[in-house]
Amino acid sequence: MIVMKFGGTSVGSAEAIRRICNIIESRKEKDPVVVTSAVGGVTNKLVALSKHAGAGERSRADALIKEIIEKHDRIIEDLQIGQDALLASAFNKGVAMLHEAVDKIIDAGELTNERYDALVSMGEFFTAHMLPAALRAKGLSSRMVDSRSLLVTDEAFSAAHPLFEESKAKVKERLLPLVQSGDIPVLQGFVGSTRDGRTTTLGRGGSDYSATLFGAMLGVSIVEIWSDVDGVLTADPSLVANAYRIRYMSFHEAAELAYFGAKVLHPAPLAPAVDHDFSVVVLNSMNPEFAGTTISAHPPVDPKLEGRVKSIAYKEGLTVITIISSRMLMAHGFMARVFSLFEKYETAIDLVSTSEVTVSMTIDDARNLDKIIPELEGFATVQVEHNKAIVCLVGEGLKRTKGIPGQIFGLLQDTHIFSISQGASEINLSFVIDENDLPKVITRLHAYFFNGDLDPNIFAV
Ligand code: ASP
Ligand code: MG
Repeated sequence: MIVMKFGGTSVGSAEAIRRICNIIESRKEKDPVVVTSAVGGVTNKLVALSKHAGAGERSRADALIKEIIEKHDRIIEDLQIGQDALLASAFNKGVAMLHEAVDKIIDAGELTNERYDALVSMGEFFTAHMLPAALRAKGLSSRMVDSRSLLVTDEAFSAAHPLFEESKAKVKERLLPLVQSGDIPVLQGFVGSTRDGRTTTLGRGGSDYSATLFGAMLGVSIVEIWSDVDGVLTADPSLVANAYRIRYMSFHEAAELAYFGAKVLHPAPLAPAVDHDFSVVVLNSMNPEFAGTTISAHPPVDPKLEGRVKSIAYKEGLTVITIISSRMLMAHGFMARVFSLFEKYETAIDLVSTSEVTVSMTIDDARNLDKIIPELEGFATVQVEHNKAIVCLVGEGLKRTKGIPGQIFGLLQDTHIFSISQGASEINLSFVIDENDLPKVITRLHAYFFNGDLDPNIFAV
C-alpha cells in the first residue's frame, strides 16, 4: 500500500488531472490511497470569500462563489466526466454546501474559525469527488472517501490537531477494507472533523500533513508527495543554473531546509514519517519519470561524508537587530527580557548570535519593529539593519566537521559576513549577509561545495 498526495497544480486543470490519473494507474499494483489538495488557487479564493462574507459583502461573495463553481465546472467539462452520476450529485451537494457556508457567515455577521473551516475546506471536497470520476472514466474502480469520517481532530478550528489513535481506528475500520477490495480511495487533504462532526482544517498547506498521517495510520512504507518541482535541489535553480537534484536526504536535513523555506516538506508532515519510519518521496507530476527526492531516516551515506554539504538554502528580506550593552548582557534576566519583548509582539526570531557585549537577532517579520525597538531602547543600545539574508548550508556531513566556517570566510573574503552560527543539530551552518550579495555568495558556495566529485548515488549528476 502507498499514499499518493497531489498538490494544487497537479489537480489544477483537466490536463493535469489526466496526467495524474495515468500516474495513479501506474501505481495500481501498489494499492494506492490518494490524498488531494484543492485546485491551485481555489483555497486562496475561499479565504477571500470568507472575508467578504464576514464583512457582509453579499455581492462580492456571490461573484466569488460563481468564479469558484465555474472553475470546477470547466475542468469537469474538459475532462468529459459531467455524465458521471456520482460526481453530478456530489457536485450539486458541494454547491449547496458552499452557499450554506457563506450564508452562515453573513447571517451571523461574524467570521469565526469554525465557520471559516466549513468554507475553506470546500476546495478539497470538489477535487476529491472529481478525481475518482476521472479515474472511473479510465475504467478504474475509485471512490471519494470523506476525510471528515476518518480524521478526528481537536476543536482548534483553522489549525486543528489530529487525534491519532481515534483516527487510526476509523481508518482501519473504514478505509482499509476498501483498499483491500481493490478500490482506489480518494480523500481530501487538509480536512478533518471534530468528534461531534464539525469540519476542521489543519492549517494552510495542511494536505501534506494529512497524507503522512494517513500513511502512518495505514502502516505504509512510502508516502509520495506529487507537486510541480523535480524534488529537492542543491540550490535555488534561479540562482544556480547547474543545481543538482538530491536523490536522498535524511529527515533532519529536510527539516532544516524546510525551515529555510526550501520547497520541501514542512516539519509537521515529516513528524509522522519520523515516528513511524516510512519514506517520503517528493515527485513532479509534470515529470513523473524523474525519481524525485527520497527523505528517510537512513538515507544512503556519502562515502566522503565528512564536510559534505547537501543543500544551500537562503531566506531573504530579513532584518538584523543588534543589541549592545556593555554590562547588562551577561546579567541575570537580560536575555529573557529581550526575548519576551519579541514574544509580546509575536515576532519570530530566526537566528541569534551573541558576543561579549552584543546580541544580534535576525527576524523575518518586521511589522511590529516600531513597537519593539523603543521598548528595547529603554534598556540597551539598538541597531537595526534591513535587507539582509541568511544563507544556510545543510548536510549530515557537517556534523563535527571542523574548518567549514574558515573555508566560507576564505571563499567570501570580499563579502561582509554579519554573523555566523552552527545550529544545535550540528547539521546546519548559517550566516547573515547583505541581500545584494546573495547571487554571488550562493553561486560561489555552490561551485565550491558541489565541485564535480559528487556521489551519483546521492545526487542526480
Ligand atoms: N488547499 C489547502 C491550501 O492551499 C491545503 C493544501 O493545499 O495543502 O492551503
Ligand atoms: Mg494548496
